[in-house]
Amino acid sequence: SHIHLHRVLPYSKRLMNAVVLPGETVIDATAGNGNDTYFLAELVGEKGKVFAFDIQESALAATAERLGPLNDRVSYHLDSHANVDRYVERPIGGAMFNLGYLPYSEDKTIITKPDSTIEAVHKILGLLKKGGIITISVYDGHEGGKEESDALIEYVQSLHQADVHVIRYELMNLRNNPPFLIAIEKLRDFEEVTRI
Ligand code: SAM
Repeated sequence: SHIHLHRVLPYSKRLMNAVVLPGETVIDATAGNGNDTYFLAELVGEKGKVFAFDIQESALAATAERLGPLNDRVSYHLDSHANVDRYVERPIGGAMFNLGYLPYSEDKTIITKPDSTIEAVHKILGLLKKGGIITISVYDGHEGGKEESDALIEYVQSLHQADVHVIRYELMNLRNNPPFLIAIEKLRDFEEVTRI
Protein backbone atom coordinates (compact mmCIF):
# COMPACT_ATOMS: atom_id res chain seq x y z
CA SER A 1 0.00 0.00 0.00
CA HIS A 2 1.01 3.66 -0.30
CA ILE A 3 0.57 4.17 3.45
CA HIS A 4 3.71 4.27 5.59
CA LEU A 5 2.40 5.36 9.00
CA HIS A 6 0.40 2.22 9.70
CA ARG A 7 -2.04 1.46 12.44
CA VAL A 8 -0.70 -0.57 15.35
CA LEU A 9 -1.67 -4.06 14.15
CA PRO A 10 -0.32 -3.79 10.59
CA TYR A 11 2.83 -2.14 11.92
CA SER A 12 3.40 -4.99 14.38
CA LYS A 13 2.96 -7.47 11.52
CA ARG A 14 5.58 -5.62 9.47
CA LEU A 15 8.02 -5.97 12.35
CA MET A 16 7.34 -9.72 12.61
CA ASN A 17 7.72 -9.99 8.83
CA ALA A 18 11.14 -8.36 9.05
CA VAL A 19 12.61 -10.70 11.68
CA VAL A 20 10.82 -14.07 11.55
CA LEU A 21 12.26 -16.67 9.15
CA PRO A 22 10.45 -19.62 7.54
CA GLY A 23 10.72 -22.73 9.72
CA GLU A 24 11.10 -20.82 12.98
CA THR A 25 9.05 -21.18 16.15
CA VAL A 26 6.98 -18.15 17.24
CA ILE A 27 4.45 -17.35 19.97
CA ASP A 28 0.96 -15.87 19.90
CA ALA A 29 0.64 -15.05 23.60
CA THR A 30 -3.05 -14.05 23.32
CA ALA A 31 -4.75 -16.17 20.67
CA GLY A 32 -8.27 -14.68 21.03
CA ASN A 33 -10.08 -15.13 17.72
CA GLY A 34 -6.87 -16.26 16.04
CA ASN A 35 -6.09 -13.42 13.65
CA ASP A 36 -2.49 -13.10 14.77
CA THR A 37 -2.11 -16.89 15.04
CA TYR A 38 -3.19 -17.15 11.41
CA PHE A 39 -0.77 -14.43 10.33
CA LEU A 40 2.09 -16.09 12.23
CA ALA A 41 1.26 -19.57 10.86
CA GLU A 42 1.52 -18.21 7.32
CA LEU A 43 4.74 -16.38 8.20
CA VAL A 44 6.62 -19.42 9.57
CA GLY A 45 5.52 -21.64 6.69
CA GLU A 46 4.91 -25.39 6.69
CA LYS A 47 8.10 -26.22 8.59
CA GLY A 48 7.47 -23.61 11.29
CA LYS A 49 5.53 -23.75 14.57
CA VAL A 50 3.23 -21.30 16.37
CA PHE A 51 2.64 -21.75 20.11
CA ALA A 52 -0.77 -20.21 20.82
CA PHE A 53 -1.87 -19.37 24.38
CA ASP A 54 -5.22 -18.36 25.82
CA ILE A 55 -6.96 -18.92 29.14
CA GLN A 56 -10.38 -19.21 27.45
CA GLU A 57 -11.32 -22.48 25.82
CA SER A 58 -13.71 -20.61 23.50
CA ALA A 59 -10.80 -18.50 22.23
CA LEU A 60 -8.67 -21.52 21.37
CA ALA A 61 -11.69 -23.13 19.68
CA ALA A 62 -12.27 -19.98 17.60
CA THR A 63 -8.58 -19.88 16.71
CA ALA A 64 -8.53 -23.54 15.63
CA GLU A 65 -11.59 -22.87 13.50
CA ARG A 66 -9.91 -19.82 11.93
CA LEU A 67 -6.69 -21.71 11.14
CA GLY A 68 -8.30 -24.48 9.08
CA PRO A 69 -5.60 -26.36 7.15
CA LEU A 70 -2.85 -24.36 8.90
CA ASN A 71 -3.70 -26.08 12.23
CA ASP A 72 -0.81 -28.52 11.87
CA ARG A 73 1.58 -25.59 12.37
CA VAL A 74 -0.01 -24.63 15.70
CA SER A 75 0.47 -25.97 19.21
CA TYR A 76 -2.45 -24.89 21.45
CA HIS A 77 -2.12 -24.22 25.17
CA LEU A 78 -5.07 -23.55 27.43
CA ASP A 79 -2.90 -21.87 30.02
CA SER A 80 -1.62 -18.46 30.97
CA HIS A 81 1.19 -17.07 28.83
CA ALA A 82 2.98 -16.58 32.17
CA ASN A 83 3.69 -20.35 31.99
CA VAL A 84 5.18 -20.11 28.50
CA ASP A 85 8.49 -21.60 29.67
CA ARG A 86 6.75 -24.92 30.49
CA TYR A 87 6.02 -25.49 26.81
CA VAL A 88 8.41 -23.52 24.61
CA GLU A 89 12.13 -24.00 24.11
CA ARG A 90 14.54 -21.38 22.88
CA PRO A 91 15.20 -19.97 20.42
CA ILE A 92 12.01 -18.43 19.13
CA GLY A 93 11.88 -15.95 16.25
CA GLY A 94 9.27 -13.58 17.63
CA ALA A 95 6.13 -13.19 19.73
CA MET A 96 2.92 -11.17 19.55
CA PHE A 97 0.69 -9.97 22.39
CA ASN A 98 -2.70 -8.35 21.96
CA LEU A 99 -3.76 -7.19 25.41
CA GLY A 100 -7.20 -6.58 26.91
CA TYR A 101 -10.38 -8.62 26.41
CA LEU A 102 -11.55 -10.88 23.62
CA PRO A 103 -13.42 -8.76 21.03
CA TYR A 104 -17.10 -9.69 20.55
CA SER A 105 -17.12 -11.95 23.62
CA GLU A 106 -19.88 -11.72 26.23
CA ASP A 107 -17.52 -11.56 29.19
CA LYS A 108 -15.34 -8.48 28.89
CA THR A 109 -14.07 -8.98 32.46
CA ILE A 110 -11.62 -11.68 31.30
CA ILE A 111 -8.65 -9.46 30.54
CA THR A 112 -4.88 -9.70 30.49
CA LYS A 113 -3.37 -8.62 33.81
CA PRO A 114 -0.22 -6.67 34.75
CA ASP A 115 1.64 -9.42 36.65
CA SER A 116 1.05 -12.26 34.19
CA THR A 117 1.66 -10.05 31.14
CA ILE A 118 5.00 -8.87 32.54
CA GLU A 119 6.01 -12.39 33.62
CA ALA A 120 5.26 -13.65 30.10
CA VAL A 121 7.19 -10.84 28.39
CA HIS A 122 10.11 -11.37 30.77
CA LYS A 123 10.27 -15.12 30.05
CA ILE A 124 9.80 -14.70 26.30
CA LEU A 125 12.69 -12.22 26.21
CA GLY A 126 14.86 -15.07 27.51
CA LEU A 127 13.51 -17.49 24.87
CA LEU A 128 13.91 -15.08 21.94
CA LYS A 129 16.71 -15.36 19.38
CA LYS A 130 19.14 -12.46 19.09
CA GLY A 131 17.44 -10.04 16.68
CA GLY A 132 13.96 -11.34 17.56
CA ILE A 133 11.10 -8.97 18.37
CA ILE A 134 8.13 -9.03 20.75
CA THR A 135 5.17 -6.86 19.75
CA ILE A 136 2.58 -5.86 22.34
CA SER A 137 -0.63 -4.09 21.27
CA VAL A 138 -1.77 -2.23 24.36
CA TYR A 139 -5.29 -0.98 25.06
CA ASP A 140 -5.85 1.25 28.06
CA GLY A 141 -9.47 2.32 27.53
CA HIS A 142 -11.18 -0.53 29.42
CA GLU A 143 -11.47 -1.08 33.17
CA GLY A 144 -8.05 -2.30 34.35
CA GLY A 145 -6.33 -1.31 31.11
CA LYS A 146 -4.53 1.74 32.48
CA GLU A 147 -3.08 -0.23 35.43
CA GLU A 148 -1.74 -2.82 33.02
CA SER A 149 -0.24 -0.33 30.56
CA ASP A 150 1.38 1.71 33.37
CA ALA A 151 2.96 -1.41 34.88
CA LEU A 152 4.14 -2.63 31.49
CA ILE A 153 5.69 0.74 30.62
CA GLU A 154 7.53 0.79 33.95
CA TYR A 155 8.78 -2.75 33.29
CA VAL A 156 10.07 -2.14 29.76
CA GLN A 157 11.76 1.09 30.84
CA SER A 158 13.69 -0.93 33.43
CA LEU A 159 15.30 -3.17 30.79
CA HIS A 160 19.00 -2.66 30.12
CA GLN A 161 19.76 -0.77 26.90
CA ALA A 162 22.55 -3.19 26.01
CA ASP A 163 20.05 -6.07 26.09
CA VAL A 164 17.07 -4.64 24.21
CA HIS A 165 15.69 -1.71 22.31
CA VAL A 166 12.12 -0.76 23.21
CA ILE A 167 9.85 1.51 21.20
CA ARG A 168 6.39 2.94 21.72
CA TYR A 169 4.42 3.59 18.54
CA GLU A 170 1.00 5.20 18.20
CA LEU A 171 -1.19 7.18 15.86
CA MET A 172 -1.80 10.38 17.76
CA ASN A 173 -4.98 11.59 16.04
CA LEU A 174 -7.26 8.56 16.48
CA ARG A 175 -10.39 8.88 18.66
CA ASN A 176 -11.84 6.48 21.24
CA ASN A 177 -8.84 4.98 23.04
CA PRO A 178 -6.88 3.54 20.13
CA PRO A 179 -4.20 0.97 20.99
CA PHE A 180 -0.52 1.76 21.07
CA LEU A 181 2.32 -0.60 20.30
CA ILE A 182 5.26 -1.55 22.48
CA ALA A 183 7.92 -3.45 20.53
CA ILE A 184 11.04 -4.97 22.09
CA GLU A 185 14.03 -6.07 20.03
CA LYS A 186 16.61 -8.43 21.52
CA LEU A 187 20.08 -7.03 20.83
CA ARG A 188 22.31 -9.77 22.22
CA ASP A 189 22.08 -13.34 23.49
CA PHE A 190 20.98 -13.76 27.10
CA GLU A 191 18.78 -16.20 29.01
CA GLU A 192 17.48 -13.60 31.43
CA VAL A 193 17.14 -9.94 30.53
CA THR A 194 18.77 -7.49 32.95
CA ARG A 195 16.52 -5.14 34.93
CA ILE A 196 17.98 -1.92 36.29
N1 SAM B 1 -5.08 -11.36 18.93
C1 SAM B 1 -6.43 -11.84 19.17
C2 SAM B 1 -7.20 -11.94 17.87
O1 SAM B 1 -6.58 -11.81 16.81
O2 SAM B 1 -8.40 -12.16 17.90
C3 SAM B 1 -7.15 -11.00 20.20
C4 SAM B 1 -6.64 -11.15 21.62
S1 SAM B 1 -7.72 -10.49 22.85
C5 SAM B 1 -7.46 -8.76 22.73
C6 SAM B 1 -6.89 -10.91 24.37
C7 SAM B 1 -6.95 -12.40 24.72
O3 SAM B 1 -6.04 -12.65 25.79
C8 SAM B 1 -8.32 -12.90 25.18
O4 SAM B 1 -8.78 -13.92 24.35
C9 SAM B 1 -8.05 -13.42 26.61
O5 SAM B 1 -8.78 -14.58 26.93
C10 SAM B 1 -6.57 -13.71 26.57
N2 SAM B 1 -5.89 -13.74 27.86
C11 SAM B 1 -6.17 -13.04 28.99
N3 SAM B 1 -5.29 -13.33 29.96
C12 SAM B 1 -4.43 -14.25 29.44
C13 SAM B 1 -3.30 -14.96 29.97
N4 SAM B 1 -2.88 -14.76 31.22
N5 SAM B 1 -2.66 -15.83 29.16
C14 SAM B 1 -3.06 -16.02 27.87
N6 SAM B 1 -4.13 -15.39 27.32
C15 SAM B 1 -4.80 -14.51 28.10
